[in-house]
Amino acid sequence: MIYFSTNKSSIPVSIKQATLHGLAPDGGLYIPSEMPRFSEAELRLLEGATFNNIAFAIAKKFIGAEIPPDQLGDIVENCYNFDTPLVRLDANTFVEELFCGPTLAFKDYGARFLARLTGYFAQEEQRLITVLVATSGDTGSAVAFGFQGVPNTRVVLLYPSGKVSRLQEQQLTTAGGNVHALEVRGDFDDCQRLVKQAFVDPQLNQSLTLTSANSINISRLVPQSFYYAWASMHIRERFGMKDPLFSVPSGNYGNLTAGVMAKMLGFPIGHFIAASNANDSVTRYLDDGRYDPHPTITTLSTAMDVGNPSNFARLRYFYGNDHAAMGRDITGISVSDQETIATIHSVYDRFGYVIDPHTAVAFRALERYRTDGGGNLELPGIVLSTAHPSKFIETIQDTLRREIDIPERLSSLLEKKKQATLISSDYRELASYLDNLDR
Ligand SMILES: *Cc1c(COP(=O)(O)O)cnc(C)c1O
Repeated sequence: MIYFSTNKSSIPVSIKQATLHGLAPDGGLYIPSEMPRFSEAELRLLEGATFNNIAFAIAKKFIGAEIPPDQLGDIVENCYNFDTPLVRLDANTFVEELFCGPTLAFKDYGARFLARLTGYFAQEEQRLITVLVATSGDTGSAVAFGFQGVPNTRVVLLYPSGKVSRLQEQQLTTAGGNVHALEVRGDFDDCQRLVKQAFVDPQLNQSLTLTSANSINISRLVPQSFYYAWASMHIRERFGMKDPLFSVPSGNYGNLTAGVMAKMLGFPIGHFIAASNANDSVTRYLDDGRYDPHPTITTLSTAMDVGNPSNFARLRYFYGNDHAAMGRDITGISVSDQETIATIHSVYDRFGYVIDPHTAVAFRALERYRTDGGGNLELPGIVLSTAHPSKFIETIQDTLRREIDIPERLSSLLEKKKQATLISSDYRELASYLDNLDR
């Protein structure tokens, strides 16, 4: 499999290079030269398969012979050693719980796979890869836990001091081992500027192999198609239903793009809802075909507060820049904070089921789609639940006026000792820190 850039002016590369570099030299995003496809016969063979069997089958299509099958199998087993429950709330409505990984958010699916692929290729190259990430919270924790203990890799995380929640800070600063946290006296933009400067610092890049782990990396995207594929097969076997409609809480649109990839691979998926909060650049594009990104607005579903989504270029590319073609597969629905709160309430009242604000946006979007008569009304709806409610405990407890349980793997983090190095937002401090890391 060969990967080329959406900007089409850099040379095509292997999955190894696409994984280790993330972004193409021309600034574009890597996409497979041709989308692989499962034949009817291949899909029949996957009936009754486990999550990991399906994950392996898809990974093999994208990676080809570049990783031997038995080693790829080990990587998949290692990544997904937790469940992916599909919970039925009523006759036609399901929630796919993507929060059972170590950081209780769906980013574990992408980050763990990317980490192990990076480790595999780094070992092949006999190099130590340094992953440099600026984070405002959620991405950083998935990356920290994804790379923790992966040989031939280490992570340096930069986060803005005093601007992440206590829980997030504990997730960022307690992984230890090959994960180093830098607490920056500044804001998230300072962290991003520092990281960008490091990537173009010729002296530093001579002594270190730097890479990023953000959501534009194709090896973070491919594994997110696994849970769409699995749910589309499982819902038929277990519940006798088919061609589900997925409602996807969207920020950078990596998650939705991975869903579209699963459909292009041939898995039986009916339709998608792109659920957004007040950051509705893509919703408006789906309405009128004009892409006019607005500045980011702060909402209750913070991980979806993205004004100009980085994966949107890839999504558009997959539809040949054809707005009508995208519209046949995807309906955009934007949900307000007020509706988000009302939905957390109503889902709890009706089903006794607690959802986080991101999941609530997707849940509400599915309801609106159905009441607005969006077509496809007979299709079963699957709401992707991207975070465990305890990650947003303040919002949930304020809304429901009751205590909620915090899973042990989260509560135990609160007792661990924070380990972080405080730096200023002056680039020289970051450069000297990186320069002093072991070689
Ligand atoms: C990152 C994130 C999202 C948005 O996913 P994208 O792939 O960026 O669209 C939604 N919910 C939660 C909880 C997240 O952490």
